[in-house]
Amino acid sequence: MNTFIDRGELVRLDRSRFALPQTDPGIVKAVSEGGTLTCMSALKLAGVAVLDDSIVHVRRPPCRRRGRDWADGVTECGLPPRRQTPPIISTAATQSAPHTYWPDHPLDGIDAALRVACTNHSDEELAVVLDSMLYNRIRTRAELHELLDGHSKRSARLVALANAGSESVLESIVRHRLTSRGVSVRTQIHIPSLGRIDMLVGRSLLLETDGYAFHADRETFREDRRRDRIAVALGYSVIRLSWEHVLGTWSQTVADISSIISTRRHLRRPREHPPARIPAPPITRAC
Ligand SMILES: [Zn+2]
Repeated sequence: MNTFIDRGELVRLDRSRFALPQTDPGIVKAVSEGGTLTCMSALKLAGVAVLDDSIVHVRRPPCRRRGRDWADGVTECGLPPRRQTPPIISTAATQSAPHTYWPDHPLDGIDAALRVACTNHSDEELAVVLDSMLYNRIRTRAELHELLDGHSKRSARLVALANAGSESVLESIVRHRLTSRGVSVRTQIHIPSLGRIDMLVGRSLLLETDGYAFHADRETFREDRRRDRIAVALGYSVIRLSWEHVLGTWSQTVADISSIISTRRHLRRPREHPPARIPAPPITRAC
């Protein structure tokens, strides 16, 4: 075995387990820490969008916790209380076991990881996850309700509020923050002269979330400005939100949005009547 390790064909995880070099680094780190990759890290591996993927989320059995500190970049996320953990309910579930907490398994299934996330993370982080699972058709809302049935009232509320139309992490955060303040937000609507709009508040306040990766090129930059010009000419107000505006200076951002709402400018009827929802994306089921 040492020969394979010396040649870089195997990586030693612990005294009895080894991994191929292409194994996900999060799994390697979790097992090296005596635990299982779970929560946001396991969800990310399953294709679910998460707010912050810079930390490795690990669960570890109680017997392995004593006397050990976590390595840098690792956080411990505990299991839900026993009464909130569902039993294995069918043969199919046993085979795929997406919601079973195997003690020495290197990676939690998507349902187990979601329940761990609901136990350890904030409403905002969960809103991002739940929106992504619905948008990408990874789970239906009914499946999420069933999966989290008995977990907590908070989980049930968040599933009810999740939005299958949120297309990006930034959009999910903005929608969650505004709806938490009682602002009604419609997502992914189509306006004939403008095309698809991220969010509409009232009749005429357009919110566009601009992740730099998708808006950095010259053509997109030019097209965004053209749409803004047309929108203003039609009577819309347009606010473009970057990561910095949402995660860095939100208090100033929400103050500007609130000033439009408090003067009821968002209720002005634009010249072109909005909005019809765009169709949902095609089904691509993960796990
Ligand atoms: Zn976590």
